[in-house]
Amino acid sequence: MSLISQDIVRAGQILSSGDLVAIPTETVYGLAGNALDPLAVAKIFEAKNRPFFDPLIVHIGDVSQLHLFTTSVSEKAKKLMAEFWPGPLTLLFNKSTLIPDIVTSGLEKVAIRMPNHPMTLKLLQSLPFPLAAPSANPFGYVSPTKAAHVESHLGHVVPMILDGGPCGVGVESTIVDVGSFPVKILRLGGITVEQIEECLNEKVDIQISSSKPSAPGMLESHYAPRKPMFWHGDTSLVNNDAKTGYLSFEGNLSGDILFELSSKGDLTEAAARLFQGMRWLDEQDIDRIEVKRLPELGLGRAMNDRLNRACRS
Ligand code: AMP
Ligand code: MG
Repeated sequence: MSLISQDIVRAGQILSSGDLVAIPTETVYGLAGNALDPLAVAKIFEAKNRPFFDPLIVHIGDVSQLHLFTTSVSEKAKKLMAEFWPGPLTLLFNKSTLIPDIVTSGLEKVAIRMPNHPMTLKLLQSLPFPLAAPSANPFGYVSPTKAAHVESHLGHVVPMILDGGPCGVGVESTIVDVGSFPVKILRLGGITVEQIEECLNEKVDIQISSSKPSAPGMLESHYAPRKPMFWHGDTSLVNNDAKTGYLSFEGNLSGDILFELSSKGDLTEAAARLFQGMRWLDEQDIDRIEVKRLPELGLGRAMNDRLNRACRS
Protein backbone atom coordinates (compact mmCIF):
# COMPACT_ATOMS: atom_id res chain seq x y z
CA MET A 1 0.00 0.00 0.00
CA SER A 2 1.25 3.47 -0.84
CA LEU A 3 0.75 6.52 1.35
CA ILE A 4 -1.78 8.65 -0.58
CA SER A 5 -1.38 12.24 0.58
CA GLN A 6 -1.12 15.89 -0.42
CA ASP A 7 2.00 16.45 1.68
CA ILE A 8 4.51 18.05 -0.70
CA VAL A 9 7.23 18.26 1.96
CA ARG A 10 6.99 14.52 2.68
CA ALA A 11 7.11 13.79 -1.06
CA GLY A 12 10.28 15.89 -1.31
CA GLN A 13 11.89 13.95 1.55
CA ILE A 14 11.13 10.59 -0.04
CA LEU A 15 12.50 11.74 -3.40
CA SER A 16 15.62 13.20 -1.75
CA SER A 17 16.29 9.85 -0.10
CA GLY A 18 16.44 8.24 -3.54
CA ASP A 19 12.99 6.67 -3.46
CA LEU A 20 10.01 7.07 -5.78
CA VAL A 21 6.82 9.13 -5.53
CA ALA A 22 3.89 9.09 -7.97
CA ILE A 23 3.10 12.68 -8.91
CA PRO A 24 0.07 14.34 -10.49
CA THR A 25 0.49 16.24 -13.74
CA GLU A 26 -2.07 17.77 -16.07
CA THR A 27 -1.62 14.86 -18.52
CA VAL A 28 -1.39 11.63 -16.48
CA TYR A 29 0.17 10.58 -13.14
CA GLY A 30 3.94 10.14 -13.31
CA LEU A 31 6.22 7.78 -11.41
CA ALA A 32 8.97 10.15 -10.30
CA GLY A 33 12.54 9.78 -9.10
CA ASN A 34 15.61 12.03 -8.89
CA ALA A 35 16.66 12.37 -12.53
CA LEU A 36 20.30 12.97 -11.55
CA ASP A 37 20.54 9.76 -9.49
CA PRO A 38 20.98 6.65 -11.70
CA LEU A 39 19.88 4.35 -8.86
CA ALA A 40 16.60 6.20 -8.35
CA VAL A 41 16.03 6.12 -12.11
CA ALA A 42 16.74 2.38 -12.19
CA LYS A 43 14.01 1.94 -9.56
CA ILE A 44 11.53 3.56 -11.96
CA PHE A 45 12.32 1.07 -14.71
CA GLU A 46 12.11 -1.78 -12.24
CA ALA A 47 8.77 -0.70 -10.72
CA LYS A 48 7.16 -0.30 -14.13
CA ASN A 49 8.82 -3.32 -15.66
CA ARG A 50 9.84 -0.93 -18.40
CA PRO A 51 12.54 -1.92 -20.91
CA PHE A 52 15.77 0.06 -20.55
CA PHE A 53 15.70 1.16 -24.20
CA ASP A 54 12.66 3.34 -23.45
CA PRO A 55 13.96 6.78 -22.32
CA LEU A 56 12.31 8.95 -19.65
CA ILE A 57 11.08 12.53 -19.69
CA VAL A 58 12.79 14.92 -17.27
CA HIS A 59 10.47 17.34 -15.46
CA ILE A 60 11.60 20.78 -14.36
CA GLY A 61 9.86 23.46 -12.29
CA ASP A 62 11.48 26.53 -13.78
CA VAL A 63 12.94 27.43 -17.20
CA SER A 64 16.03 28.83 -15.46
CA GLN A 65 17.06 25.21 -14.66
CA LEU A 66 17.21 24.28 -18.33
CA HIS A 67 20.83 25.38 -18.97
CA LEU A 68 22.04 22.91 -16.34
CA PHE A 69 20.73 19.91 -18.24
CA THR A 70 21.20 20.96 -21.88
CA THR A 71 24.11 22.21 -23.99
CA SER A 72 22.09 24.74 -25.98
CA VAL A 73 18.55 26.04 -26.37
CA SER A 74 17.41 27.09 -29.86
CA GLU A 75 15.21 30.06 -30.74
CA LYS A 76 12.43 27.68 -31.83
CA ALA A 77 12.56 25.89 -28.50
CA LYS A 78 12.34 29.26 -26.73
CA LYS A 79 9.26 30.19 -28.74
CA LEU A 80 7.50 26.92 -27.94
CA MET A 81 8.40 27.12 -24.25
CA ALA A 82 7.18 30.71 -24.01
CA GLU A 83 3.85 29.67 -25.48
CA PHE A 84 3.18 26.24 -24.02
CA TRP A 85 5.16 25.85 -20.75
CA PRO A 86 4.07 24.90 -18.22
CA GLY A 87 1.98 22.46 -20.27
CA PRO A 88 1.72 19.14 -22.12
CA LEU A 89 4.68 19.73 -24.44
CA THR A 90 8.00 17.85 -24.22
CA LEU A 91 11.04 19.13 -26.12
CA LEU A 92 14.25 17.32 -27.02
CA PHE A 93 17.58 19.03 -26.20
CA ASN A 94 21.21 17.93 -26.45
CA LYS A 95 21.90 16.71 -22.93
CA SER A 96 24.58 17.96 -20.57
CA THR A 97 26.75 15.50 -18.65
CA LEU A 98 24.61 16.00 -15.53
CA ILE A 99 21.90 13.80 -17.06
CA PRO A 100 22.80 10.12 -16.55
CA ASP A 101 22.66 7.86 -19.62
CA ILE A 102 20.04 5.65 -18.03
CA VAL A 103 17.56 8.55 -18.31
CA THR A 104 17.97 8.83 -22.10
CA SER A 105 18.69 5.13 -22.76
CA GLY A 106 22.06 6.22 -24.07
CA LEU A 107 20.66 8.80 -26.54
CA GLU A 108 22.43 12.16 -26.93
CA LYS A 109 19.16 14.03 -26.57
CA VAL A 110 17.14 14.42 -23.39
CA ALA A 111 13.38 14.99 -23.34
CA ILE A 112 12.34 17.81 -20.96
CA ARG A 113 9.07 19.39 -19.98
CA MET A 114 7.51 21.65 -17.36
CA PRO A 115 4.22 20.13 -16.21
CA ASN A 116 1.26 22.35 -15.47
CA HIS A 117 0.05 21.12 -12.11
CA PRO A 118 0.24 23.43 -9.08
CA MET A 119 1.30 20.71 -6.59
CA THR A 120 3.94 19.19 -8.81
CA LEU A 121 5.31 22.60 -9.82
CA LYS A 122 5.64 23.47 -6.15
CA LEU A 123 7.37 20.15 -5.47
CA LEU A 124 9.77 20.60 -8.40
CA GLN A 125 10.59 24.16 -7.35
CA SER A 126 11.42 22.96 -3.84
CA LEU A 127 13.88 20.29 -4.98
CA PRO A 128 17.56 20.73 -5.91
CA PHE A 129 17.16 18.17 -8.75
CA PRO A 130 14.71 17.54 -11.64
CA LEU A 131 12.42 14.51 -11.71
CA ALA A 132 12.49 11.72 -14.27
CA ALA A 133 8.93 10.51 -14.59
CA PRO A 134 7.23 8.16 -17.03
CA SER A 135 3.54 7.46 -16.67
CA ALA A 136 2.80 5.65 -13.38
CA ASN A 137 1.42 2.45 -14.90
CA PRO A 138 2.89 -0.99 -15.53
CA PHE A 139 4.65 -0.94 -18.92
CA GLY A 140 2.20 -1.18 -21.82
CA TYR A 141 -0.96 -0.68 -19.74
CA VAL A 142 -3.41 2.26 -19.83
CA SER A 143 -1.99 5.44 -18.25
CA PRO A 144 -3.32 6.52 -14.81
CA THR A 145 -5.36 9.70 -14.49
CA LYS A 146 -6.24 9.35 -10.77
CA ALA A 147 -4.31 8.49 -7.59
CA ALA A 148 -6.47 5.37 -7.17
CA HIS A 149 -5.34 4.07 -10.60
CA VAL A 150 -1.72 4.28 -9.48
CA GLU A 151 -2.51 2.57 -6.19
CA SER A 152 -4.29 -0.32 -7.88
CA HIS A 153 -1.37 -1.23 -10.15
CA LEU A 154 1.78 0.09 -8.48
CA GLY A 155 0.70 0.46 -4.83
CA HIS A 156 2.98 -2.40 -3.80
CA VAL A 157 6.12 -0.71 -5.14
CA VAL A 158 5.57 3.06 -4.70
CA PRO A 159 6.00 4.43 -1.14
CA MET A 160 3.86 7.52 -1.76
CA ILE A 161 1.32 8.93 -4.20
CA LEU A 162 0.97 12.71 -4.15
CA ASP A 163 -2.76 13.15 -4.63
CA GLY A 164 -3.51 16.07 -6.94
CA GLY A 165 -6.98 14.97 -8.03
CA PRO A 166 -7.94 13.77 -11.52
CA CYS A 167 -5.73 14.83 -14.45
CA GLY A 168 -7.24 17.56 -16.61
CA VAL A 169 -5.76 16.80 -20.05
CA GLY A 170 -5.71 13.01 -19.84
CA VAL A 171 -3.47 12.19 -22.81
CA GLU A 172 0.31 12.40 -22.56
CA SER A 173 2.48 15.31 -23.64
CA THR A 174 3.27 15.98 -27.27
CA ILE A 175 6.96 15.20 -27.93
CA VAL A 176 8.77 17.48 -30.37
CA ASP A 177 12.29 17.35 -31.79
CA VAL A 178 12.86 21.06 -32.43
CA GLY A 179 16.47 20.52 -33.47
CA SER A 180 15.58 18.71 -36.71
CA PHE A 181 14.50 20.41 -39.93
CA PRO A 182 11.63 20.31 -40.50
CA VAL A 183 10.67 20.09 -36.84
CA LYS A 184 9.50 16.57 -35.99
CA ILE A 185 6.59 15.49 -33.82
CA LEU A 186 7.59 12.16 -32.23
CA ARG A 187 4.43 11.64 -30.18
CA LEU A 188 0.99 13.20 -30.59
CA GLY A 189 -0.36 14.55 -27.31
CA GLY A 190 -1.98 17.36 -25.36
CA ILE A 191 -0.67 20.21 -27.55
CA THR A 192 -1.96 19.77 -31.08
CA VAL A 193 0.03 19.78 -34.33
CA GLU A 194 -2.00 22.82 -35.40
CA GLN A 195 -0.94 24.74 -32.26
CA ILE A 196 2.74 23.97 -32.84
CA GLU A 197 2.64 24.94 -36.51
CA GLU A 198 0.92 28.17 -35.66
CA CYS A 199 3.44 29.07 -32.97
CA LEU A 200 6.48 28.33 -35.18
CA ASN A 201 4.81 29.60 -38.32
CA GLU A 202 6.04 26.56 -40.26
CA LYS A 203 4.91 23.06 -41.24
CA VAL A 204 6.11 20.21 -39.07
CA ASP A 205 6.67 16.52 -39.85
CA ILE A 206 4.72 13.91 -37.93
CA GLN A 207 7.07 11.00 -37.45
CA ILE A 208 5.40 8.55 -35.16
CA SER A 209 7.22 5.27 -35.10
CA SER A 210 6.17 2.01 -33.48
CA SER A 211 9.55 0.37 -33.11
CA LYS A 212 12.36 2.95 -33.29
CA PRO A 213 14.27 3.28 -30.02
CA SER A 214 14.34 7.09 -30.35
CA ALA A 215 10.63 7.25 -29.56
CA PRO A 216 9.85 4.08 -27.69
CA GLY A 217 6.74 5.40 -25.95
CA MET A 218 5.32 4.61 -29.33
CA LEU A 219 5.74 0.84 -29.08
CA GLU A 220 2.91 -0.93 -30.90
CA SER A 221 1.14 -2.43 -27.89
CA HIS A 222 1.28 0.65 -25.67
CA TYR A 223 -1.80 1.96 -23.87
CA ALA A 224 -3.70 -1.31 -24.16
CA PRO A 225 -6.39 -2.43 -21.71
CA ARG A 226 -6.21 -6.12 -20.77
CA LYS A 227 -9.50 -6.90 -22.53
CA PRO A 228 -9.11 -7.11 -26.32
CA MET A 229 -10.14 -3.89 -28.01
CA PHE A 230 -11.35 -3.63 -31.62
CA TRP A 231 -12.38 -1.01 -34.13
CA HIS A 232 -16.17 -1.14 -34.51
CA GLY A 233 -17.05 -2.87 -37.76
CA ASP A 234 -14.03 -5.15 -37.71
CA THR A 235 -16.31 -8.15 -38.30
CA SER A 236 -13.48 -10.58 -39.03
CA LEU A 237 -12.80 -10.74 -35.31
CA VAL A 238 -16.32 -10.92 -33.91
CA ASN A 239 -17.27 -14.00 -31.92
CA ASN A 240 -21.05 -14.09 -31.52
CA ASP A 241 -20.95 -15.32 -27.92
CA ALA A 242 -18.63 -12.57 -26.78
CA LYS A 243 -20.01 -9.78 -24.57
CA THR A 244 -19.02 -6.38 -25.88
CA GLY A 245 -18.53 -3.07 -24.06
CA TYR A 246 -18.43 0.18 -26.01
CA LEU A 247 -16.29 3.30 -25.85
CA SER A 248 -18.53 5.91 -27.41
CA PHE A 249 -17.99 9.49 -28.59
CA GLU A 250 -20.98 11.76 -29.08
CA GLY A 251 -23.32 8.76 -29.01
CA ASN A 252 -21.62 7.07 -31.99
CA LEU A 253 -22.02 3.63 -30.37
CA SER A 254 -24.74 2.09 -28.24
CA GLY A 255 -25.00 -0.91 -25.94
CA ASP A 256 -25.73 -1.97 -22.35
CA ILE A 257 -22.18 -1.52 -21.22
CA LEU A 258 -20.98 1.75 -22.58
CA PHE A 259 -18.61 4.53 -21.56
CA GLU A 260 -19.40 7.89 -23.14
CA LEU A 261 -16.27 9.99 -23.74
CA SER A 262 -18.20 13.15 -24.48
CA SER A 263 -21.90 13.29 -25.24
CA LYS A 264 -21.53 16.79 -26.69
CA GLY A 265 -18.68 15.81 -29.01
CA ASP A 266 -16.03 17.81 -27.17
CA LEU A 267 -12.55 16.40 -27.98
CA THR A 268 -10.96 18.03 -24.93
CA GLU A 269 -13.46 16.41 -22.60
CA ALA A 270 -13.02 13.10 -24.44
CA ALA A 271 -9.22 13.23 -24.05
CA ALA A 272 -9.54 13.83 -20.32
CA ARG A 273 -11.77 10.74 -20.06
CA LEU A 274 -10.09 8.39 -22.56
CA PHE A 275 -7.87 6.34 -20.26
CA GLN A 276 -10.51 6.37 -17.52
CA GLY A 277 -12.96 4.90 -20.04
CA MET A 278 -10.62 2.12 -21.15
CA ARG A 279 -9.89 1.31 -17.52
CA TRP A 280 -13.59 1.25 -16.59
CA LEU A 281 -14.46 -1.04 -19.49
CA ASP A 282 -11.57 -3.29 -18.53
CA GLU A 283 -13.23 -3.81 -15.13
CA GLN A 284 -16.70 -4.69 -16.51
CA ASP A 285 -17.98 -8.21 -17.07
CA ILE A 286 -17.31 -8.20 -20.83
CA ASP A 287 -15.00 -10.08 -23.21
CA ARG A 288 -14.13 -7.32 -25.64
CA ILE A 289 -14.26 -3.58 -26.21
CA GLU A 290 -15.27 -1.72 -29.36
CA VAL A 291 -14.57 1.86 -30.34
CA LYS A 292 -14.93 4.04 -33.44
CA ARG A 293 -12.22 6.32 -34.82
CA LEU A 294 -12.53 9.92 -33.57
CA PRO A 295 -12.45 13.00 -35.80
CA GLU A 296 -8.85 13.30 -37.10
CA LEU A 297 -8.18 16.83 -35.90
CA GLY A 298 -6.76 18.54 -32.83
CA LEU A 299 -6.73 16.19 -29.81
CA GLY A 300 -8.68 13.62 -31.86
CA ARG A 301 -5.43 12.78 -33.64
CA ALA A 302 -3.59 11.95 -30.40
CA MET A 303 -6.54 9.86 -29.23
CA ASN A 304 -6.76 7.92 -32.50
CA ASP A 305 -3.06 7.21 -32.15
CA ARG A 306 -3.58 5.76 -28.63
CA LEU A 307 -6.61 3.77 -29.78
CA ASN A 308 -4.69 2.42 -32.77
CA ARG A 309 -2.08 1.04 -30.41
CA ALA A 310 -4.72 -0.39 -28.09
CA CYS A 311 -6.84 -2.05 -30.83
CA ARG A 312 -6.12 -5.49 -32.26
CA SER A 313 -6.34 -5.57 -35.99
P1 AMP B 1 5.99 8.04 -20.86
O1 AMP B 1 6.46 9.14 -19.99
O2 AMP B 1 6.00 6.70 -20.26
O3 AMP B 1 4.65 8.33 -21.45
O4 AMP B 1 7.00 7.94 -22.07
C1 AMP B 1 7.92 8.91 -22.36
C2 AMP B 1 8.30 8.81 -23.79
O5 AMP B 1 9.08 9.96 -24.11
C3 AMP B 1 9.26 7.71 -24.17
O6 AMP B 1 8.67 6.50 -24.29
C4 AMP B 1 9.81 8.22 -25.47
O7 AMP B 1 8.93 7.97 -26.53
C5 AMP B 1 9.86 9.68 -25.24
N1 AMP B 1 11.23 10.09 -24.98
C6 AMP B 1 11.81 10.28 -23.79
N2 AMP B 1 13.09 10.64 -23.94
C7 AMP B 1 13.31 10.69 -25.27
C8 AMP B 1 14.45 10.99 -26.05
N3 AMP B 1 15.60 11.33 -25.48
N4 AMP B 1 14.33 10.92 -27.39
C9 AMP B 1 13.15 10.58 -27.96
N5 AMP B 1 12.04 10.28 -27.28
C10 AMP B 1 12.12 10.33 -25.94
MG1 MG C 1 3.71 5.67 -20.73
